[in-house]
Amino acid sequence: MPENAKKSAKEPPVYSLIRLSRCYNCDARLEPGSIVKFEPGKDEREVRCRNCAKLTELEFLKSGNAKITQLAKKYSERVIVVMQWSELWKTYERVGLLVESVAIDRIEKELKIQFENRESQEQASGQKLKNKG
Ligand SMILES: [Zn+2]
Repeated sequence: MPENAKKSAKEPPVYSLIRLSRCYNCDARLEPGSIVKFEPGKDEREVRCRNCAKLTELEFLKSGNAKITQLAKKYSERVIVVMQWSELWKTYERVGLLVESVAIDRIEKELKIQFENRESQEQASGQKLKNKG
């Protein structure tokens, strides 16, 4: 499919925690549900928080709606799969995607919907988004 050819290389998946953890890099406390990246370490995988993994510009989009997922992939330059361990199935399951906020904005406009509990809105009321370039 030539449509995908122009996209940048596929990024490795990130993970949604099911238990409390700490960032290996900055020691931030990570609540269950936090999205983290695993880096291969010496003995085990090291956990990186979203700040350290440079994922703060991306927003979590829950999977479940094929049309929304399709649009997110179309509009977002970066698409990262979010996996979560399932105790029931003893395997990692896909729970959603990390995509650019602008892509979610476009989907909301195009489908005339409003996602609940958007991360960017929570951030806007709390702290200002840091713009490091
Ligand atoms: Zn960190």
